[in-house]
Amino acid sequence: MTVEYKLIRSKRKSVSIHIENGKVIVRAPRIYPVYEIEKFIHKKEKWINNHINKQLSKPQISYHNSDVISYLGEEYTLIIIEKSIQEKVELDDNNIYLYSHYKKENEAHNKKILDKWIENSCLEIFTEKYNELFKLFDYKNKPPLFLRRFKSRWGAYHKRGFKDKITLNINLIMYPIECLEYVIIHELSHKTHLNHSKNFYNLVEKKYPNWKKSKAILDGKID
Ligand SMILES: [Zn+2]
Repeated sequence: MTVEYKLIRSKRKSVSIHIENGKVIVRAPRIYPVYEIEKFIHKKEKWINNHINKQLSKPQISYHNSDVISYLGEEYTLIIIEKSIQEKVELDDNNIYLYSHYKKENEAHNKKILDKWIENSCLEIFTEKYNELFKLFDYKNKPPLFLRRFKSRWGAYHKRGFKDKITLNINLIMYPIECLEYVIIHELSHKTHLNHSKNFYNLVEKKYPNWKKSKAILDGKID
């Protein structure tokens, strides 16, 4: 048995496996034999490892002093300057400086300042990239661009009648710029093909030959 797991027994009737924060949680009925549970886990081992890798490789934004933050694929140390007169965020080669009115430990307030700064950066960087990459297509109408914090998708293309729009996940700011480029190309290609057919990926490939590398980074398969 190579998988480590936490077993929770309860009144339930069947066995289930969940990955929470990179850890395996198995739920089983009260009198279910351990060897059956382990057999079940063994069968699911590949799925389990894939999911653990996916969760662990997802960069997270955190708001503690001296935490490491990914920004455009580079790592920065968050330095909080407390009790500042002016609230702002500044960036140099190694650090992100967050100036707060309050104490370092006020995580909710740190989050407020940093999230606002991230949203503004995204608006600027995503819009510029979007306008640049739109030119690769022969489309007449540019779908308006929206930003959101999606939990489980990098972008979305929506079409209703003649109107369409593209939404990008703000969390893309943590990844190298090639990832953002790929997601923009992906969503813009949906303007031609609404599905994920072979024709769709042919179009993506034509507009952005290096797309597989970006996708693999987003899927957590490579760094
Ligand atoms: Zn898609």
